[in-house]
Order: sequence, then structure tokens, then C-alpha cells
Amino acid sequence: MKIIKEKSQLQPLMEQFRLDGKRIGFVPTMGYLHEGHLSLMRIAREVCDVLVVSIFVNPAQFGPTEDLDAYPSDLQRDFDLIEALGGDVVFTPSNAAMYPDGYKTWVTVDDLPHIMCGLSRPIHFRGVTTIVLKLFNIVKPHVAVFGQKDAQQAIIIRKMVTDLDIDVEIKVGPTGREPDGLALSSRNKYLTKIERADASILQQSLQQARKMIEAGETSSSVILSEMRRMIQAKNTAEIDYIDIRHAETLEELTIVSPDQLILIALAVKFGKARLLDNILI
Ligand code: AMP
Repeated sequence: MKIIKEKSQLQPLMEQFRLDGKRIGFVPTMGYLHEGHLSLMRIAREVCDVLVVSIFVNPAQFGPTEDLDAYPSDLQRDFDLIEALGGDVVFTPSNAAMYPDGYKTWVTVDDLPHIMCGLSRPIHFRGVTTIVLKLFNIVKPHVAVFGQKDAQQAIIIRKMVTDLDIDVEIKVGPTGREPDGLALSSRNKYLTKIERADASILQQSLQQARKMIEAGETSSSVILSEMRRMIQAKNTAEIDYIDIRHAETLEELTIVSPDQLILIALAVKFGKARLLDNILI
């Protein structure tokens, strides 16, 4: 497995893979890998000849008061996990290489970045789309795999790829979870013991929403009230948002019906950790 820091080293290597007729699969990450990340890499591994993983904690997607400096990291462990899985290349660029002095270009999708997570993280998705497009331009993958855990991110990236005619197939892999249903996240490391126990309410509330819809409930506000009640019963939980939306357009749904693709997505803070989860119905 090759570990590469320099764009100038990675680009000719990727060019050579393409000339050799290899199909390139790519999984961008911010590192501190868990089983959710690894499951995305397995998806790419299966459909491609070459697996490239990037590890880059992208400063452009963190707001000024967010956890950029505290973001957990264990590069050697990450390298070992990627190698054991059959990874071919890990790309770990520096901040200065990705955003040199005088950097001025940003890629944004209209509307979608300003709802849900965008309300409390106004520059987040601009940072995400910009870094993902930059990484696509450097790696030139045939396939890139993202996680359903970050549902809004996956939808925004798909939109950017369609709108800008980017020649890459986007796949979205299912959310990896702890045995109690908590979505795996690098940020789970911030949770205290009590917060960790309380956080299992997220998946329970989403499952409760599913049950209500399956039992015939059609009012989003009734479903949302029940979810809020469940989550607020946990002392350490502070709800950022819970939304019920169309799973492809992210249009808000006030009435749900079983013939729609429904996304119920939430962000809830437990102490220092802001956790996301969602369910597709
Ligand atoms: P991150 O390192 O948090 O930026 O995530 C890198 C990629 O892994 C993104 O596509 C995430 O959506 C995805 N991801 C994060 N957590 C999970 C999870 N629990 N299951 C599956 N994919 C995940």
C-alpha cells in the first residue's frame, strides 16, 4: 500500500492506473476510521481494481467555534486498517497543499446546503463540496463511496456531480452501527459514559417513527412531537433539528404517505458531540 502526501506524486500514479485500464474506487474520509468507513471501502473494493482512501480533516467544512482542533486522529491505526482491507493508496495531503495562500475558489450547490445541518453549520457544505470536487480532480476515481449516515451530504454531492457533469459514479453505503443502534462516528469518542448511554435514544426514536408510519400515522408533526419527547427525556440531549423530508429532493413533508421515499434525519448534541442519524422509510 502506498501512502502519499503530495498531489504531484498521486496524480501521475492515478493517470497510470487509468492508462492500464484499472477501475479506481475512492473513499474520502477525515480519518480516525471505524467500521462504518471500512464498510464503504469494502463496497469500493468489490467493484473496482484500485482502492484509494483519502484522510484529510478539511478545515473549510468546520465553523470557527467547531471541533477542528480537537478532531481525533490515529493515522498509523488508520493505515493498518486500510492495508488489512486491501487498500492500494492512502492520500493524506497537508492543509497548505489543499488550500495554499491566496486560495479563492469555492463550489456550492444552491438551497440544499442551507437546510437541516446547514442551519447551524452555514459554511459546512460549501467546504464539503469544494474538497470533494478537489479530491475528485486529483484522484480521478471511477466510483466514489459515501455514507448514508451523512444523508444530506450524500444528496448534495450527488447533485453537484449531476449538475457539473462530473464523470464519477456515486455509491452510498448503509450506516454502520454499534450493537445498541448508535451510528458509528469518529465523534462518539467525545461522549462521556452517561452521554453514550443516552445517545442510544436517537436510533430508538427513529425506529419509533418508523413504527408510527407503518401503523398509519401520516402527520409529520405528530411523529416529530413523539420523537422530541423521547429524546428530550434524556438529560444530556440537546436537539439541533429533527426533520421529515423527501429522501431524494429533501423537500419538507408535512404529511407522509407510504408511497413516498421518506427521510427522517436528526442532529442532536450530547455534551461536546453533535451526532447525526437518519432513517429511510
Ligand atoms: P468522515 O470521516 O466522518 O468525514 O466520513 C467519511 C465517510 O464515511 C462519509 O462518506 C461518511 O458519510 C461515512 N460514514 C461516517 N460514519 C459512517 C457510518 N457509521 N456508516 C457508514 N458510513 C459512515
